[in-house]
Amino acid sequence: MSYTALYRKFRPASFEDVKGQDHIVTTLKNQIKAERIGHAYLFCGTRGTGKTTIAKIFAKSVNCESPIDGSPCGECAVCRAIAAGASMNVIEIDAASNNGVDNIREIVDEVSYSPAEGKYKVYIIDEVHMLSIGAFNALLKTLEEPPSYVIFILATTEVHKIPITILSRCQRYDFKRITIDTIASRIKELTEIEQVAIEDKAIRYIAKTADGSMRDALSLLDQCIAFHFEQELTYDKVLDVLGAVDTEVFSRLLRVVLAGDVPGAIGILEEMVIQGRELTQFVSDFTWYMRNLLLVKTADGIEDVIDVSTENLARLKEEAQMADNDVIMRYIRVLSELSGQIRYAAQKRILIEMNLIKLCRPAMETDTASLADRIRQLEQKIEQGAGASLSPEMLARLQEGANIPRDSQKPLGQPKAPLPKAIPEDVSKVASKWSVAISEAPNPMKTYLKTAYPSLSADGKLLVVVEDGLPSDYFKQA
Ligand SMILES: [Zn+2]
Repeated sequence: MSYTALYRKFRPASFEDVKGQDHIVTTLKNQIKAERIGHAYLFCGTRGTGKTTIAKIFAKSVNCESPIDGSPCGECAVCRAIAAGASMNVIEIDAASNNGVDNIREIVDEVSYSPAEGKYKVYIIDEVHMLSIGAFNALLKTLEEPPSYVIFILATTEVHKIPITILSRCQRYDFKRITIDTIASRIKELTEIEQVAIEDKAIRYIAKTADGSMRDALSLLDQCIAFHFEQELTYDKVLDVLGAVDTEVFSRLLRVVLAGDVPGAIGILEEMVIQGRELTQFVSDFTWYMRNLLLVKTADGIEDVIDVSTENLARLKEEAQMADNDVIMRYIRVLSELSGQIRYAAQKRILIEMNLIKLCRPAMETDTASLADRIRQLEQKIEQGAGASLSPEMLARLQEGANIPRDSQKPLGQPKAPLPKAIPEDVSKVASKWSVAISEAPNPMKTYLKTAYPSLSADGKLLVVVEDGLPSDYFKQA
């Protein structure tokens, strides 16, 4: 028994069955009812949002012998011929493989013959942005003065590649990404018809992974059904089949990265490796997670744009409070660079580990964004150490500061004075976290700071005592 992919089996045959593109469907139906049909349409939008499906329904409608409320009847000879792909009136061209001048000239020659049956010849040119400049020019002449019986429907995922001369001659329709809710309810409907048991959470996961594309959603569902044939599709099984990572792991990863916890971050990566996750996808998904986080942080009412479940949104909002915009932007930059490199990398895991360390340790980078992140981490650490008490050694050193011979204090130019009785709180904070402060410093400063120690100046300010020679020269320059 041959198996028909769900996407083909349930491809909408009438406008009423099309999901998630109501604005376009309504406009097209009205045009058909009013018999005000255009000659050139441009359908743009992400893959799997219904561009060719709607183009085919439209082709049926304009030719149908008895359309009902702008929709094709589905029963007349013309409707049936088009549905069976046997009509000479609907010509589908894939511009990805027919992108030359000659391919378009063929169409242009054909256009001069009126349709043998029905009213319109409909040319559907898919991926039209793939046409060569010459081919676009050849098409342009026909678009300028099309015969009354010809309709062109140009479909593209990349509208910015279409020449303005072509754009200006078409009615443009922007296909929206289909929302998770719409996709989920379609999956629910189809799995009921197909008698497939599936958890609601699994449905939502597939809908979310499809990223606005109904076609992708149904292909993913197909994969899951094939893999666990005649079993209930649980959330865990779906995750497993799709090789995908539950977003909970990104939440954990973000938290350890923000805390600068390198072993924690490497550990999470190891979990992914053990589970056999696809690492390129993992990086890409984590980048998207950061992008969503940034959107949640910078704009209100962003729920529709990022399309995440309510529970994930609540978590994103919480995490948005934990990180600054600059920090998230730095993460996104590092991760985007990583995405570019990882495709061709032989040692993906090592490359990811290096970049996770980079995220945790902004000190490894020298640009201003990393610097800001470094300061943030320092502040965070100092803050956490606010209640920490000074070690006796450190206390002794601080007090000793006042007794150091004047010469040694010269590098920082502090005059000698009697020791103040109380050590100010801010100085105490830095001193109690001195080793952390050093570890966060860039090289060569870090090297020189290793021999230095914090002390207290006469007027109660933090004094950093450095050795004479190379270290003191370095700080004098700085
Ligand atoms: Zn019909």
